[in-house]
Amino acid sequence: MYNKNDIKYFRKQLLYWFKSNQREFPWRKKGLSNYEIIISEILLQRTKAETVAKYYHVFLEKYPDWQSLINATIDDLEKILKPLGLNKHRAKRLNKIIEEYKQKNGLMPRNKNELQESNLSTLYISNAYELFILNKRAPLLDVNMARVLSRYFNPKEFKDVRNDKELQALSRIVINVKNCKELNWAILDFAALICKSQKPSCITCILSSRCKFNKQDKKNASGTDQTDEPQLNIFYDDKRTMDNPDKPLKLLSLFSGCGGMDLGFEGDFIVHKNSINKKHNPAFIVKTVNKNYVKVKATKFQTVFAKIF
Ligand code: SF4
Repeated sequence: MYNKNDIKYFRKQLLYWFKSNQREFPWRKKGLSNYEIIISEILLQRTKAETVAKYYHVFLEKYPDWQSLINATIDDLEKILKPLGLNKHRAKRLNKIIEEYKQKNGLMPRNKNELQESNLSTLYISNAYELFILNKRAPLLDVNMARVLSRYFNPKEFKDVRNDKELQALSRIVINVKNCKELNWAILDFAALICKSQKPSCITCILSSRCKFNKQDKKNASGTDQTDEPQLNIFYDDKRTMDNPDKPLKLLSLFSGCGGMDLGFEGDFIVHKNSINKKHNPAFIVKTVNKNYVKVKATKFQTVFAKIF
């Protein structure tokens, strides 16, 4: 159902991006105990990672291990979790986990079946447990990962990730790689920094060329196919006064560093008619596209490479 090349491209680009853009968090360090991992996942539920990062050590200082936690009452837990919000919900969940820990004499789930029977079986915690503790390939699927996957592969409304079987299946396919942990973190970091819920940075996004949301967005904005649209919309004011109005303006580069210069050298693109100095460069226009836009002529130059990912 999903294009294999789209999946490959997604993984490759995100793993590459992650190398220099990853966020540092205490729960991403190597050598964490199972206890520390489970606590971090409970704190991370429906809470920004940056907020949890400020608070994670406070919790671990008070309750550094299972032995210290099993003596905590539900009131103690609500109190310490209060600054993070959702404290009643989290305290209740932790309390259930503690009860199970006591009943099973500290024996934690050893496989997926045991995990599904336990109080750790909510979607996000269960996937995190599979990934970090059982060392299986599992997606850290939350609303943020869901947003990136859905936008890139198949833009649609998703209401509740826990009930969206299609999204769950897609996330399992996408993260099914050797460096699964890194890819999971990469998607989450990308969701937080680039593909944000409001105003995603599509213009500079490394996935934009294959992203369905980006294509759909452009099409919706124009109401036409993108190939008919101008790629540049530079306004050239040919009425302004100059000391020597007959001297042509020489434009070296408007967009050096982002691909525009290469585009300018090649020509053969559509611009606003006011972008062309018709008095000095009438031959640059090869076609009038409509009342506002013209096509500029192609040059003998060809962009061999502009950007490599
Ligand atoms: S192009 Fe935009 S919507 Fe698509 S993945 Fe990038 S930031 Fe997200």
